[in-house]
Amino acid sequence: MTGRAQGGQSGGSGPAPEDAVVRPGPLLDQPIGAVLGKATGEKLAKLGLNTVGELLRHYPRRYAHLGEMTDLASLTPKEHVTVMARVAQATVRTTRTGSALMNVEITDGRSTLGLVFFAKHKGALRYHEGRLKPGVEGLFSGEVGTDKLNGRPQLAHPTYRLIGIDVADEAEGREEARRPIPLYPASAAVPTEQIQKAIGALFPVLTPADVPDPLPTELLTRRRMPELLGALRELHRPEDDQEIRRAQDRLKFEEAFVLQTELARRRARVAREGAVARPRRPGGILDAFDARLPFTLTEGQLRVGAELATEIAGERPMQRLLQGDVGSGKTVVALRAMLQVVDAGGQAALLAPTEVLAAQHERTLRALLGELAEAGMLGGAQDATRVVLLTGSQSAAARRRALAEAASGAAGIVVGTHALLSEQVQFADLGLVVVDEQHRFGVEQRDTLRAKARSTPHLLVMTATPIPRTVAMTVFGDLETSVLDQMPAGRAEVVTHVVPAGNDRWMQRTWERVREEVAAGGRAYVVCARIDPDAKDDDGAELIADDGPTKRPLRAVLEVAEELSASPELGGVPVGVLHGRMTPEEKERALADFAAGTVPVLVSTTVVEVGVDVPDATVMVVLDADRFGVSQLHQLRGRIGRGSKPGVCLLVASAFPGSPAETRLMSLAETRDGFALAAVDLELRREGDVLGAAQSGGATSLRLLRVTRDADVIDEARTEARAVIHDDPELVDHPQLLAAIELLLDGEREEFLDRT
Ligand code: ADP
Ligand code: MG
Repeated sequence: MTGRAQGGQSGGSGPAPEDAVVRPGPLLDQPIGAVLGKATGEKLAKLGLNTVGELLRHYPRRYAHLGEMTDLASLTPKEHVTVMARVAQATVRTTRTGSALMNVEITDGRSTLGLVFFAKHKGALRYHEGRLKPGVEGLFSGEVGTDKLNGRPQLAHPTYRLIGIDVADEAEGREEARRPIPLYPASAAVPTEQIQKAIGALFPVLTPADVPDPLPTELLTRRRMPELLGALRELHRPEDDQEIRRAQDRLKFEEAFVLQTELARRRARVAREGAVARPRRPGGILDAFDARLPFTLTEGQLRVGAELATEIAGERPMQRLLQGDVGSGKTVVALRAMLQVVDAGGQAALLAPTEVLAAQHERTLRALLGELAEAGMLGGAQDATRVVLLTGSQSAAARRRALAEAASGAAGIVVGTHALLSEQVQFADLGLVVVDEQHRFGVEQRDTLRAKARSTPHLLVMTATPIPRTVAMTVFGDLETSVLDQMPAGRAEVVTHVVPAGNDRWMQRTWERVREEVAAGGRAYVVCARIDPDAKDDDGAELIADDGPTKRPLRAVLEVAEELSASPELGGVPVGVLHGRMTPEEKERALADFAAGTVPVLVSTTVVEVGVDVPDATVMVVLDADRFGVSQLHQLRGRIGRGSKPGVCLLVASAFPGSPAETRLMSLAETRDGFALAAVDLELRREGDVLGAAQSGGATSLRLLRVTRDADVIDEARTEARAVIHDDPELVDHPQLLAAIELLLDGEREEFLDRT
């Protein structure tokens, strides 16, 4: 570490150092071209790097260790190597096409290695010709390729440092070779050496004041972490591996800390707002509902129910995430919380991610409530309320009615899609917001709905995607978590088989099985990755583009539906379709026909993934199953075996034995435990997918932090962040931390806009 430790939270004040470049405004926001020259600026812009700040935060992907690589005899293709060697001979010639080629042979005394340089004409090679004279020694680095003529390893366009010219002597050369070399995400046009050089040129001009540190000085000292400028220097120009580690640890912590501070700030804000207490009222609609429930609640439902009841009865807004595997009975838990609010004179809103799900929720709630949902109607029970549906596509009349009932308070429960967020929607007294399948809703949408209440409503977020604790802390860090880890008793068995796509006999058997299930009164889903064979629409499938043995085109809904309608194995059973390009009415219709059994086979995209509830569905066939992620397949499979009849899930795939795709599919065949599968998924998927699916705190914010691996870092950052917010709730005394959060939120907002 160098002695630059004056920065911390006070950076930005103080006079600019005399030797600094004259620059208007903060250096980090300056275009790269203004600081490093126009040519460099234009080059780096090709990588999407425009400002000095962006360049500094362009972190090395990994590091090469030159010192270890001097052995010419053991080169591995594609490895980035540096060798210390002497030039044996060098020749330049013109090729038949008129371009120029320079071949150099280098040796360490035992083995030899070829270098090659290409150019448009001989003149362009003069520079290398002048330097790479026989007898000259140097360090040569590049990626090991293969000489097409003789199959031997070679370095094409290596970078090199000559001893006695670029470095003083062999000792200095060796010293240089000892340092780790950062390798950056680069492109052919902008190679890693250029990035390295550009970043290297920044450090002499940077002062701590240029690089405001979001981490409080006190925290840095206590945790013995380098300040930001030092950490960036160690990351980009490390002396040794220890510096890299120290820099990475600190920058990783920073990422977690900034995010956790924002989450803590949000929590604290909501907690300060205060909520209307909605205590449970004995003898009201909730008691009437419990009395008419056709089943007994599971222990988990009772426990979580009690947690919610207590918090809703309190004067602090509840902020809770309910995790429960598909079929664990979250809806009933949520409904009971809503009824407690209704009993206390308030209203509840249930926000669903799609129109299909909103409509289905409304139906489910009405069915569960029966006469308790028929207030003001003949046969409506005493204490009854009303459930209304609000979606973007309903008729003007239906919408007017729903709006009126929400505004007057006649509707105790309002179910809807994001249409609930529109300005015209008013509530008489919104006391509870329930968000179903949160991963499709942004935090801002939650806030919009919250703003519709006179005082902050209680919030319950439900997700059927089991999330590991650290991911929950990162993505839903402002929420407390409850888990429904138990399935209602008597849940039907579902067996899962992997069917090889190329095996005609098995495929035939698959469709026969569908027909048998239908004949026995069941329903069958057939899931495809795409809608239209001619278009590239994947309708929400999170496809993994990897490891099928052949690059077959993905099966498409429209094509498969047509084939199945005509297939002898299905023997004329009616086949319907469901996908995202249908209108809401068409979708409703398709699901209703399917549920009723008039069209018992439904070919669909993953729109059936979340929440669709048809108890008679007993078979699911997933085509191209090897291209789906574990969690998505698990969600899909959750659509069958919902009633009392056992189900069968057939995963049609062409995956090599032992391939990652096969591992995924076998894990699904082995267990139905969503939490166990989530763990498998995390191991197999890349980080970005995990957070992407669950909305990260801005794609740009997490560079080094890995929520799957850095649980300790996240834990500690959260503790520190909460302490900072406790003492300084709006970060008045932490302007640089606040600025870092603003930057993070900008990224998040952009992502949010992209999604809608
Ligand atoms: P999810 O958690 O996937 O939203 P649901 O709430 O839709 O699950 O419940 C799945 C099915 O199980 C529904 O048909 C629901 O009525 C039923 N169910 C819920 N709780 C119980 C229980 N305690 N005993 C039996 N069936 C239950
Ligand atoms: Mg549900």
